[in-house]
Amino acid sequence: MATILEQGNISIHTENIFPIIKKWLYSDHEIFLRELISNAVDAIQKLKMVSYAGEFSGEAGEPEIQITLDKDKKTLSVSDNGIGMTAEEVKKYLNQVAFSSAEEFVEKYKNSTDQQIIGHFGLGFYSSFMVAARVDVDTLSYREGSQAVHWSCDGSTEFSLEESDRAQRGTTVTLTLQEEELEYLEPYRIKQLVKTYCDFMPVPIKLDGEQI
Ligand code: ADP
Ligand code: MG
Repeated sequence: MATILEQGNISIHTENIFPIIKKWLYSDHEIFLRELISNAVDAIQKLKMVSYAGEFSGEAGEPEIQITLDKDKKTLSVSDNGIGMTAEEVKKYLNQVAFSSAEEFVEKYKNSTDQQIIGHFGLGFYSSFMVAARVDVDTLSYREGSQAVHWSCDGSTEFSLEESDRAQRGTTVTLTLQEEELEYLEPYRIKQLVKTYCDFMPVPIKLDGEQI
């Protein structure tokens, strides 16, 4: 038997792994939209789950996902009226790569409904950085008395987190697109992607106010 010299944990250098995630997480850049929409769907499903469990008695409203394009600002945003995030949740789930709330959530609410959660690995959100120079998240949690927050990151390992004056429950993720990714400002391109990747998602999706 060989003598064991040491046992321990492999660690990761965020500065080095981030560029890899940004470049090679998926072979197709376009799937960022599928990831953002599936997070929005999950957020809406989670709101249903907490409602069934009797933990949310507010007005859920009609579940809806809105995609908005702004050619002047070069932004694409995906908004949902789902569960939202508290500042703590933003820190936990967005500042930690490969950390997902999905498992914890499903475990906690497994008896309350049969809603499906798409998320799993806690990586999908970062696919935004394949096409975005900056990602901004504006969010307000369903939890009573929550403070809305604004998270921003330019794809480096630094982020900022501030208070926001958002009044509506839910989350808006805004991507400021890289110069070479401006095709995602074209409505036909977005419609095509929604058709390809989101045809069976259980929530209506609107593009600039119009159902697609
Ligand atoms: P996954 O979807 O596999 O869990 P992601 O990287 O896509 O991983 O997202 C990480 C986490 O961030 C999610 O588990 C969820 O807790 C949170 N999150 C992301 N987008 C939203 C959103 N639109 N609304 C609420 N929470 C979100
Ligand atoms: Mg996801």
